[in-house]
This record gives sequence, C-alpha cells and structure tokens, in this order.
Amino acid sequence: MPDELLTRLRRFNTDYFPQHQARYKDLVDQGQHPTTLFIGCSDSRLVPYLLTGAGPGELFLVRNVGAFVPPWDGSHGVHGTTAAIEYAILVLHVKRIIVCGHSHCGAIRALYEDLPEGAVNLKDWLDIGREAMLPVQISPEALHRTEQRSVVLALERLMEYPMVRTAVEAHRLTLHGWHYVIEDGEVHVFDVQKGNFVPASKSEHSGTGPYLDAPDDGELFNEISATWPPA
Ligand SMILES: [Zn+2]
Repeated sequence: MPDELLTRLRRFNTDYFPQHQARYKDLVDQGQHPTTLFIGCSDSRLVPYLLTGAGPGELFLVRNVGAFVPPWDGSHGVHGTTAAIEYAILVLHVKRIIVCGHSHCGAIRALYEDLPEGAVNLKDWLDIGREAMLPVQISPEALHRTEQRSVVLALERLMEYPMVRTAVEAHRLTLHGWHYVIEDGEVHVFDVQKGNFVPASKSEHSGTGPYLDAPDDGELFNEISATWPPA
C-alpha cells in the first residue's frame, strides 16, 4: 500500500524545493527575519500562506485552538503562545502582529457546549476565551459575534504585554485583527475607528493600524460588542 505522506515528502524535495532553493539558502545563511507574527486558529481551513501570499521566511506563526492570546500576567499558567509573542517582539523584532480568527470556529462553539470527557487541558485552554462570550443562547449570529469579540479581546490582551505596548507606542509595531469568513473567501479586518470589522474589499487598510489611534484602547472590547452587528 503506497504511503501517501511519504509521497508528498518526496514531492516537496524533488518538485518544490529546487525552484526555491536560492531563497532557502538565503534564509539559512542570513537567518530568518520575518516581519509578521501571525497568531491564528489551528483550524485546517485557515491557511495563512494562502491568505497573505507569504512564502518561507515571512511569517512567524503561532497557532492554537481559537487563536487565543493568554493574559500576560501568567494568571492562566505557562503557555507556548505567550513565549512565542515574547520571542517575536524581543528577538525577531517583528513589525506587525496579526490575530486571525474565522467563521465556523470549533473553539468558539465549544465555549457554549459541553466538552468530551477527558478534555481537561482543552477546558482549561478554552477558559482563556470565555471573556468573549455573550450571555445569549447559541446561534449562528452569536457565534459570529463571539468569534469577532475574541479577536478584539486578543488585541487588547496583546497591549498588556509590556514589550508589545512599548513597541506600539514607539510606532515600531502595529496590531491587526482579522476575521476570516471561510464561505466568502474574504478576511474582514478590524477597524478601530469604526469599532467594527470591515471586508478587506471595502477597507482602506489591513486592520487596526497603529493601535494607539484608538480613542481609548481599554474601551474597544465593549465598543465592538455594542456596535456589532449593525442593525
Ligand atoms: Zn477556529
């Protein structure tokens, strides 16, 4: 029986790699200098390289269930996501952070539903995102809103990381909140001024821009919950 995975590994080496060998050589000789930290949900339908057109060396990727950002104060334990954020800012000096949630997110749905027995770590992890929940019955609209609220919550939490806040205030770093609508093939970007998510096709920027442009970034989370979706 053919080993499909082995076939794919060989195909990368024989078909893809030779065409991009020079790029990989540079990345080895010069080291990686990605300009973007991409924090995305682990969902298999979210493919950051396709959405952004990025290639090797361009995205420093962190993926987790729900694209959650833990609070910086360690109140929810030690996390790889937290470590990756610190590394991206303090070592790689990335210029932007993208937080990318998406439609039909299983993590967001799981906030409202019972978990399988034995999923003890998953339960603890999901607790990080509960602040984004709405006090309503589960519905497609509630899930959609919670997905977007969760992205904004992540942006607010990022601003609690001292090295993130310092870089944003020095205009060395911008934060971008994205909600990828799978069925439309379109990312909606969070607009701080509008307090809303705007389809990329209608937006003039790729997300919040300098986060300090917000009137008061501490209020954003409440602002979006109050204004979305438009009546
Ligand atoms: Zn998801």
